[in-house]
Amino acid sequence: MVRARFHAPDACTYMLMRIINYTNVCVAQCDYCAFYTLPGQEGGYVLSDAQVFAKIDELLELGGDLVGFNGGFNPALPLEYYCELFAAVRARYGDRLEFYALTIAEFMYLADHAKLDYLTTAKRFKDAGVRWITGGGSEILTEDFRRRHSKFKYTVKQYFEAQRALIEAGLRSTATMVVGFDETIEERIEHLERTRQFQDETGGLASFLCWTFKPYFTPLGSQLGGIEIGTGEYLRHLALSRIYLDNIPRIRTSVLTQNERALEGLLYGADDFDLPIEDEVTQKAGATINLQFDKVLTYAKSLGYTATYRSVAKDGAASRAGTQPA
Ligand code: SF4
Repeated sequence: MVRARFHAPDACTYMLMRIINYTNVCVAQCDYCAFYTLPGQEGGYVLSDAQVFAKIDELLELGGDLVGFNGGFNPALPLEYYCELFAAVRARYGDRLEFYALTIAEFMYLADHAKLDYLTTAKRFKDAGVRWITGGGSEILTEDFRRRHSKFKYTVKQYFEAQRALIEAGLRSTATMVVGFDETIEERIEHLERTRQFQDETGGLASFLCWTFKPYFTPLGSQLGGIEIGTGEYLRHLALSRIYLDNIPRIRTSVLTQNERALEGLLYGADDFDLPIEDEVTQKAGATINLQFDKVLTYAKSLGYTATYRSVAKDGAASRAGTQPA
């Protein structure tokens, strides 16, 4: 079994984290999104630094130490805004906190908006104290899927060029996938195959996280009749991902979209999960967050797994100090 090559059979890890949705203004207009507001429309917001810090402080008080920044493609926010925000977060929290600075989709938009190439942009972020950018926003990596649903976002070719630039700049990255739109089985396989090939070439992807499309209040969801794929189909896809991506050590299962049933993913090859306290993007499309973390962890135990807290902040600090492998 592929999982056993990387992890003890009854072991799994988890993180307590929050997504900080710093702006909901976006020009990408993906038809699977219930989160965004167009520039100038009522309800658009950009969080202040004080609001960002308050969200981080709340997470730290709960015992978590990882945040992910995820917003929209907001043309009013220049690259400098992000560099200053991330530098301020790093200066204030140091190694007590780690943060995923944006998804790769936002990273690509920012680079284009600033008229810079991906490598230069990645280096600017690194200089601002950034260590991670996630592969979020990849959904299904086929050109046809992107033309059907998010034609203003990026091409698959650009996605992998950007991933390569992040790795070359010395940033860390991850792979993601979302299933349950109208994608075909062939498209799911193409996504896995491209990810696998990229990892074979670079070895730069730390983990693979797959979650399910929440269709509520989205244009695509209404078009498809508002039906979510079931947990069984999700679990089978996780198992397929674990077998296919045998060059990525960590496969993560999505509590955010599957609640505690996501833990059954541990039986299907996953080894890691998040306990999120907030993610407005998926919550607006119908995700519900269970803050009774004990209940989730007890479920892991009932399935036969010992869940250990995984601190990206502490692991990273130990790795940089040379006392522990990354
Ligand atoms: S999914 Fe992201 S990029 Fe697409 S419209 Fe929503 S906020 Fe914008």
